[in-house]
Amino acid sequence: MLRGGIPIGRLFGISLRLNYTWFIVFALVTWLLTTKYFPVAFNDSSLSTRLGAGILTSLLFFVSVLAHELMHSVVAQRLGIRVHSITLFIFGGVSQMSQEPKRPKDELRIALAGPLTSLTLGALFWGVFFWLGPGSEFLLAITYWLGLINIFLAAFNLIPGFPLDGGRVLRSILWWRSKSLRQSTRIASNIGRGVGFFFIFVGTFLVFQGPGLWLNGLWLILIGWFLQNAAVGSYRQVALQDMLQGHTASEVMTRDCPAITPDVTVDTLVNEYVLATGRRCFPVAKDSRIMGLVTLHNIRAVPRSLWATKTMNEVMTPLGNLKSVPPSEDLSNLMTILTEADINQVLVVDNGGIVGVIGRDNLLSFINLRGELGV
Ligand SMILES: [Zn+2]
Repeated sequence: MLRGGIPIGRLFGISLRLNYTWFIVFALVTWLLTTKYFPVAFNDSSLSTRLGAGILTSLLFFVSVLAHELMHSVVAQRLGIRVHSITLFIFGGVSQMSQEPKRPKDELRIALAGPLTSLTLGALFWGVFFWLGPGSEFLLAITYWLGLINIFLAAFNLIPGFPLDGGRVLRSILWWRSKSLRQSTRIASNIGRGVGFFFIFVGTFLVFQGPGLWLNGLWLILIGWFLQNAAVGSYRQVALQDMLQGHTASEVMTRDCPAITPDVTVDTLVNEYVLATGRRCFPVAKDSRIMGLVTLHNIRAVPRSLWATKTMNEVMTPLGNLKSVPPSEDLSNLMTILTEADINQVLVVDNGGIVGVIGRDNLLSFINLRGELGV
């Protein structure tokens, strides 16, 4: 859902994106401001003035959310964590960071940067609100609302349910005390799930309270549902990283990878190599020079009717598109490499020669086996 986004620029080396769901919020906020808030806030204003004020306020709201997210990322980058992009979507912003913070103190700093930014912005907007004199009704209404929404954003994000900022603060404290990231994440994300279910419960109650509240109720249900899903997903990710950490590429790689020539057809490969030997990956080489790699994944992409004619040259993943790692590479890094580059296998290279291949299936069977044994 959050993968897609329209790029809108770069700041501090981070690419900024808008997910299409963000436009729903923009339209909704503009509509609520124009039809509900501004008619009460200014007297005798025309629809076009209110709509103009609505759009301007929504834009400043968007800048506020972006500033919140950007500060998390700027602090993370200062602490050595690479941030690829920030995507704004229906419930706020997400930063794509290359890794989890290394120390509890780092996590605490990154987590607090966002709410502190929102609080500062809230104070600034309210400062302008109090500084403005009578007669500037238009600016008074805008600055008041922006001050309020930023303070609300800070408060909401400080709810101690992971992966909200408050949940991250809680996790950093638990982590600092227990020294176990996995256990701390489990506690903080269980609270996150609880908060999510609570929102769903209150939202459902509001939906049945009559026409005035059903939209608020629906919104709460959606946020609750999103939060509880995010809590489960974030915990799984940490548990997975924890399971993989400390194990190396050499433990899971497929070692037995005899090379084949580029003119072999898919038919021949399947019948004479795959089915006959049970091997799943084959480096393609000519005159002992590696040209690429063929795995079951490549074979599955070829329609059965073309198996007799397609050769390895056409179906292999070329060497230039393959990534390689040393046998000592940590499996948690390997997982990140596969995910970030969106690839299915890497070559394991030692002293310039291929010593093995690791596919997603190797990692999955490693994870499943440990999951079944509970180790
Ligand atoms: Zn935040």
